[in-house]
Amino acid sequence: MSKIFNEHITGFKCPLCGLRKPIDLHEIRCPSCGSFFEIEYDYRALREEVEGWFAPRRMNVWAYKALLPYSTNLVPLSLGEGGTPLVEARHLMSRPILLLKNETTNPTGSFLDRGSTVLVSILNGVHRVVSCAVNGNLAVSLAAYGAKGGMKVKFYCSPDIERGEFYQAMALGAEIHVTSSQGRAYMEAFEDSDAYYVDSANPFLLEGEKTTIFEILEELSWRAPSWIAVPVGTGGHISMLWKGMKELKSLGLLKGKLPRLIAVQPEAFSPLVDLFDGEAHRRPQGTIARDLVFIEPHKLREAYNAVKESRGLAVRVNDEEMLIAVKDLASKEGVLAEPAAASTIAAIRKLIAEGLIDEDDQVVAIITGSGLKDPEIIRTLISAKSKKHLFITRPKLAILKAMEMMGGRGHGYAIGKFLRNELSLTLSLPTIYHHLREMEGMGLIKRLNILNRRVVLYELTPKALRFLKAHNYEEMNRAS
Ligand SMILES: [Zn+2]
Repeated sequence: MSKIFNEHITGFKCPLCGLRKPIDLHEIRCPSCGSFFEIEYDYRALREEVEGWFAPRRMNVWAYKALLPYSTNLVPLSLGEGGTPLVEARHLMSRPILLLKNETTNPTGSFLDRGSTVLVSILNGVHRVVSCAVNGNLAVSLAAYGAKGGMKVKFYCSPDIERGEFYQAMALGAEIHVTSSQGRAYMEAFEDSDAYYVDSANPFLLEGEKTTIFEILEELSWRAPSWIAVPVGTGGHISMLWKGMKELKSLGLLKGKLPRLIAVQPEAFSPLVDLFDGEAHRRPQGTIARDLVFIEPHKLREAYNAVKESRGLAVRVNDEEMLIAVKDLASKEGVLAEPAAASTIAAIRKLIAEGLIDEDDQVVAIITGSGLKDPEIIRTLISAKSKKHLFITRPKLAILKAMEMMGGRGHGYAIGKFLRNELSLTLSLPTIYHHLREMEGMGLIKRLNILNRRVVLYELTPKALRFLKAHNYEEMNRAS
């Protein structure tokens, strides 16, 4: 364990109840209130050394090692993460000044690589096997760093995992375990006794994620912008941005005011915004920003505190607003972002329209992940342009037909069984979910609700019923 001791680290501190404990790779939750610990540094001692840190050097995650769990005997496993561009987006808007922190240029196309390099470097040589269940993006990132370190990454997922992420993790050597549901995936990953279990709230992972804000502020000569917009899923990233800013402030590096945080969530699931609105959490609905949907967002309270302390705002955006932002970011600024990442642009536009962001403000949008993660979305975008023709493949048509014959609705497993027995078509469960999701994007089916964590029920939309009426299944089936 000694390898993770940076001499400036004083230990773990609970961000919610304030309890302090010695740093430990395994006891990462507060015994008193159950929150995930944060890592605390001796800022007074650091302050004396702060001169000279920022001599000319290549900007990347490890450039900030004095504020990371690092010691001289730790060899960073690096794939070149961090050092991402901060570029002005003049074609999107001239006033206020909008800067994009383009995290899509990280090794696996996501800001999560900043966390993976720190955590996997620490685990390297201590643990040979890592397990996780959180979401595809993190699995892909961990798999890449695991591959670099010669470690095995076991990824537990539900059958409706994004296909792109599924194959990427697999190509990077992850061992994939498809379980019956997301809840089950969490349980099996957690209970995998061979492995070190990685949760997205892991303090070592999160320490790396705060380097986004170090880079932004260093590039702005330690003057904070008026606003920083960031998508919120578990709440980990935003709470770490705030922790990082407070660290820089206490070191005397950050001059003037701290920025105000804009937390962005999809309308389909927005527990943080609900918290601000004083509403009870609603059940998640289907959304194209699936990477932001965490049934139990572990850093929700910390995210809430961060937004509140910064006098920030929490904003909901819908799928259509996100898709428009994806399209504009790509076609006007040359940045291909995933919908979750482009949500920041949608939120900023909303706040400008509402008069909450001023013309003279400087706004930074963190574009957290690449559009290449999910090629289906790009297809949806392009096909939305040519609405005249609805192209539909044989398996999709068969699924629609099966659902029609089943009374208009069904869940993945039942549809698969019906296809096999009644239409003599055998499709794997992940394939069925993949088509269901695509057709959700095409407006042909919708998620009814989540009965429990195991079953998602789908229903044909009026558009699908019209389509089935206009196209004879037997004829189309013969033709294709
Ligand atoms: Zn606590």
